[in-house]
Amino acid sequence: MANEPLKPVGVETIAPFTYPDSLLRAQRRTGPEGLDIALFGLPYDGGTIARDGARHGPGQMRQMSINIRGTNMATGISPFAACRIADIGDGPVNSFDHVASVDMMTAFCAEIAAAGAWPLAAGGDHLITLPVLRGTVDPANPVGLVHFDAHPDTHDAIFGTKLNHATPFRRAIEEGLVDPKRHVMIGLRGTTRETDAALDWAHDQGITMIDIDEFYELGPKATAAKARAVVGDGPVYVTLDVDGVDPADMPGTGSPEPGGLRMRDMQVILRGLRGLDIVGGDVNEVSPPLDPTGYTAFNAVHLMFEILCLMAENRASR
Ligand code: MN
Ligand code: MN
Repeated sequence: MANEPLKPVGVETIAPFTYPDSLLRAQRRTGPEGLDIALFGLPYDGGTIARDGARHGPGQMRQMSINIRGTNMATGISPFAACRIADIGDGPVNSFDHVASVDMMTAFCAEIAAAGAWPLAAGGDHLITLPVLRGTVDPANPVGLVHFDAHPDTHDAIFGTKLNHATPFRRAIEEGLVDPKRHVMIGLRGTTRETDAALDWAHDQGITMIDIDEFYELGPKATAAKARAVVGDGPVYVTLDVDGVDPADMPGTGSPEPGGLRMRDMQVILRGLRGLDIVGGDVNEVSPPLDPTGYTAFNAVHLMFEILCLMAENRASR
């Protein structure tokens, strides 16, 4: 039936390790038609400046979805009961052609928007957020961003190249896809340059930056409240670079920075975003070769599930 829920593949009915091939244990579909929310991978890491491997992120995130059970104990949200959700596979990339890959991913995401579904992506390096936004956001109605990251990703160019994982939000704001006054960064930290043009530009745009020291002053609930105040009532996209999380919890990422948000902090902040008009999101920068335990991907899918709960509750309320 067209509008029946697509139940996740349940641990009650089959042994979880016999279905290791879907994000959040969603059913698999070949396209976005008829879906409320499309889960998908963008396995591209050609935007990585230093340590790569995030192209393998979606695959391991599917494998590590093994014990997602479908209901959020803390909030009571059951996204698969509220909305039609499926994993539609990975977007196309050409690992030998950087610019073409961004265009291919953009076209794939535009098909999701054309079908009326909302996007929730697994990266890939953080460059993947740009094609998701290009494909799904109308500049006439830019999104606000709740952006977890150790880094602002607002450089103009690296080595003269404007498309890489340090530039996606510079491009997205220039292109009118993101409203910088409704953009909040959470978790900024680490070493920087003597003068940091990326941070200066972000400040000049009016982006709200909650660095890690401010986060520890506020705590997770007040941080969520501040984020809510910044993004307000309009449409919101949640982009979660796993290097915003402490490397103790998420070691498998290309640009880890010590002293970050812990998993518990992330859960409390994300649950504190309930009721916002969250229409899309992504979890990116999981690099399986850099974490042989797989625990980075395991934690990543649990945060992806938290974002899915926010999107599904919002979608069902319409
Ligand atoms: Mn980062
Ligand atoms: Mn990033």
